[in-house]
Amino acid sequence: MENILDYDYTALKNKLEMEKLEPYRTTQVFDWIYKKHATSFAVMTNLSKQLRERISMKFIIGMPELVKKTKSSDGTVKFLWKYSDGNTVESVILRYPDRITGCISSQVGCPLNCAFCATGISGYVRNLTSGEILSQILGMEISENEKINNIVFMGMGEPMLNYDEVMKAIHVITDPKAFKISQRRVSISTAGIVDGILKLSEEPLDVILSISLHASTDDKRSMIMPVNKKYSLEDLMEAVKIYQKAKDRRVTFEYILFDKFNDSLDDAQKLMKILKDIKCNVNLIRYNDTGSTFKKTPMDRAEIFEKFLKDNGIESVIRAEKGEDISAACGQLRRQTL
Ligand code: SAH
Repeated sequence: MENILDYDYTALKNKLEMEKLEPYRTTQVFDWIYKKHATSFAVMTNLSKQLRERISMKFIIGMPELVKKTKSSDGTVKFLWKYSDGNTVESVILRYPDRITGCISSQVGCPLNCAFCATGISGYVRNLTSGEILSQILGMEISENEKINNIVFMGMGEPMLNYDEVMKAIHVITDPKAFKISQRRVSISTAGIVDGILKLSEEPLDVILSISLHASTDDKRSMIMPVNKKYSLEDLMEAVKIYQKAKDRRVTFEYILFDKFNDSLDDAQKLMKILKDIKCNVNLIRYNDTGSTFKKTPMDRAEIFEKFLKDNGIESVIRAEKGEDISAACGQLRRQTL
């Protein structure tokens, strides 16, 4: 049996054609799954009974089991999903005045081992398929009876290390026949996989690229992000410039403020220097506790850091904290309920 969610529109049409399963019905099938949230073929009543039966002999609609759902007082909801092989991931819904964001995972665990992030602690297991990625969005929409209109690949895993499946998922997320979310409302966040950034710069896609920077020198960055030993800051910034040239769009930088590690004015100055030729937004995130030795930067110091960047012409904002009370904030997602 194959997971029908693993097929984007064109692939499904071709597959139905090959299987002699009325390929001109692809739009209806997509409509049932992505707009009407059908989780079985039996309910697709505008397809003949015979077709429904034949399709269900080839495909399943591969939804994960909802193991646990936790709600925060700020409206954030965290979901723990279990796939048929027993592996689990988390995803999160975040509510803002102007949008409902789904924060989704691209891998079971993560191989990058950033010192401050809870996802790496449980190790890396495998990539998710595009269908498994999409099923998190479907599952959240069904469970909350709500339409998600903004997607961030900021859950568990490094999306650029699962490039092809993430791209396939993005096709379906942005397809008017499926989730119909505009490309500018999809963000891919990367710890700095240079090859992936360069590849993305060649895609006919207009998504938001977000770089998890967190330090402005190689020494400091390599201390907290081992991936920096493979792709240096210089290489990373070079790739971002190539991306920017190709897309002519602002790039987002995420910068976690760690108390007395990277939050001084000297750090802000170094950051400003490496960002000065790049059109960007900087999101300052005060470290969320994950049991590491780091501490949260106090708000007043975060504001001084933010002001320095702004005074030097770099758009920056201290990101509102969401979901920390239910361990759903950036960096707090893990593989298991502990
Ligand atoms: N691997 C990708 C996608 C994960 S996104 C990436 O690194 O970008 C998750 C975001 O949360 C990243 O910006 C990550 O650096 C950040 N993050 C991780 N741990 C955190 C923590 N403890 N506090 C605040 N942000 C954290």
